[in-house]
Amino acid sequence: MIKLDNIVATYTTTRGQVNAVEGVNLAIPSGEIIGIAGESGCGKSTLLKVIYGDLTYPLSLTSGSVQYGFDPFGNAAEGGEEITNNDIQEYWFQRISYIPQSSMSSLNQVTRIRKQFVDFLRPDQDKDKILEEVRAYIQKLDLPPEALEAYPHQLSGGMRQRIMVAMGTFFQPDVILADEPTTALDVVVQKGILLLLMDLQEEMKNTIFFVSHDMGVHFQITHKMLIMYAAKVVEFGDTDAIFTQPLHPYTKMLIEALPTIGDAHLREGVSGRPPSLWDELHGCRFAPRCPLATELCTTTEPEFVEVVPGHFAACHYAADN
Ligand code: ADP
Ligand code: MG
Repeated sequence: MIKLDNIVATYTTTRGQVNAVEGVNLAIPSGEIIGIAGESGCGKSTLLKVIYGDLTYPLSLTSGSVQYGFDPFGNAAEGGEEITNNDIQEYWFQRISYIPQSSMSSLNQVTRIRKQFVDFLRPDQDKDKILEEVRAYIQKLDLPPEALEAYPHQLSGGMRQRIMVAMGTFFQPDVILADEPTTALDVVVQKGILLLLMDLQEEMKNTIFFVSHDMGVHFQITHKMLIMYAAKVVEFGDTDAIFTQPLHPYTKMLIEALPTIGDAHLREGVSGRPPSLWDELHGCRFAPRCPLATELCTTTEPEFVEVVPGHFAACHYAADN
């Protein structure tokens, strides 16, 4: 179980402070792929940064905590001390990893891939032995062993992203955070990477938080989904339930924007835009775009509640939806 306890994450800028994630409370079962969806700017990447413990200026945690439900390096059995996101950085790569959107910005361009693998080993780990294992592992991921000797720019975009997946999964971390990991790639390469991630997850049973704005991809690869709108989580549940019985009108809107096979017409898509997080927001943040909104919605913020077992939503009319 990963527990997100009343998370408020804030950016400090010259203009002032803005909450990019606000009041997120969730207990997420481990061992599944959790999709995170929502329009651009709604806080998906920020939520991943909070879970990764990557809280550096201008981002900070104003309140709340993350509990990971695993013990440092698996030493203590159940009931051991849980680590929180204050000290999670110690476990980067080995227990929790991050697969970014662009491999170009996160790989060091002037360092061979081999060295980048070695750099995140602990001093007590046998470098040569692990490099041998890495060599075997990347071949399993359809990469040539020579890729280890290359500099990032010598590899294709697809190969680099496979390297990122290899780095992010080699130690079989409990938690993997993948932020639109295939967005920069062409469709065929994208499919290969997604299938690879799914296969690895099936084998290792890690918890993967998978951010994508593509609801079609979420439908194909995720077990559960978390829908974000204007810094809030508005729905959480099994992916099947999200698609067959969405409880929040925003989720419905995202699903309806999906093109269907054989549909010659372009879908209307999602009309309107989320509110600016800089404005003072009252009531339900989705109300201005919601076809079902009533007076209540414009004045009173709906609570995030379990509407049916395992299926949560923040909408005054969730039970009717
Ligand atoms: P998403 O990943 O869903 O597109 P983000 O988490 O990147 O959304 O951003 C959420 C909000 O936080 C946005 O409104 C954005 O303007 C703000 N934000 C993101 N990064 C920064 C930053 N470095 N400084 C100030 N505000 C930021
Ligand atoms: Mg993002």
